Amino acid sequence: MCSFRKKQKNFLERRDSSSCIFRERNIMLFLDFDGTLAAIVDHYKKATILQESKMLLKKIAECPECFVAIVSGRALSDVKKRVGLKNVIYVGNHGLELEGPGIRYTSFVKTGVKVLFRKIKFDLVKRVKKVKGVSIEDKGLTLSVHYRRVGRKDLILFEQMFSKSMWPYLMDGCISINKGKKVFEIKPAVKWNKGSAVLWLLKHFRKNGCSRKMLPIFIGDDVTDETAFIALKNKGLCIRVGCGETSAAQYCLRNINQVTHFLRAVLDSQKAASLYGK
Ligand SMILES: [Mg+2]
Repeated sequence: MCSFRKKQKNFLERRDSSSCIFRERNIMLFLDFDGTLAAIVDHYKKATILQESKMLLKKIAECPECFVAIVSGRALSDVKKRVGLKNVIYVGNHGLELEGPGIRYTSFVKTGVKVLFRKIKFDLVKRVKKVKGVSIEDKGLTLSVHYRRVGRKDLILFEQMFSKSMWPYLMDGCISINKGKKVFEIKPAVKWNKGSAVLWLLKHFRKNGCSRKMLPIFIGDDVTDETAFIALKNKGLCIRVGCGETSAAQYCLRNINQVTHFLRAVLDSQKAASLYGK
C-alpha cells in the first residue's frame, strides 16, 4: 500500500547538501514534460521547454553515469519534437510508446486500438467539440480532451456531453479516463502507465549490464505521474512539482523554475564526482 501525503518537503530546502543524495554513480532521471519542463499554457500546442532546463538536460545526458528519459502523456513524436535532444529516451502516450538510443520501440497495446480511438474521436467531435473552447488532442493510442479555454457557463454542458460520449466505451470496459489539469485523458483499458514504463526501463538497464547502484529520480506535476511515484516507492527519489498537493512523492518543487535549479544541482554533483571521484 502506498501512502499519499498532503505535505511534501521542498527538495531545495533540505538541510543536507544535494550532493549526498546523488552519491550513487548512476542517476536515472525521469521527467514529465508539461508542468515540469514546460509551463502549462492555455493551448497544448503552445507549450515549449524552458531553454535553461533543455541545456542542463543535454549536459546531464552526456555524463557517462546518467541517463535521461522524458515521460509524457503526449504522443512520442510530439514530445520528441518539443524537447529536441538526441541522447535521451522518450516515453510517450503515458508509457505506451517508448524509444531511445539502444532501445527498440515496444508496443504495449493490442492491435485495433488505433481504430477504436478513431471512433471515439469521431463521437467526441460530434458532441463535445460543439462546446466553445474544447480541443481534442489526437495521439493515436490515446486522446486528450482539453477544456482550459471553456467558459465557466459552459462547463456543466461540457461535462454532460463528455460523459454521454464516453459512457458506452466505459461500459464496454475498453477505455479508462483520468482527469488531469483541465484535461481528460482517455486511454485503452490496459494495466500499463508511466510507472510501468519506468520499471520496464530500469529492468532493461539492469539486464543490459548496468551493474552499478542506480538512483532513479522521477519529477512530475500531475495525477498521471503518481503511478511513477508509487512504482518508485522505496526505490528512488520522487518529486512532485507543485507543493501542497496530495501525492505519493517524498518531495516537492514549487514550479518549473525550481526544476531548473534541481537539474543544475544534479549536473554540479556529476561534475564534482568526475573531478574528485565518489
Ligand atoms: Mg505534466
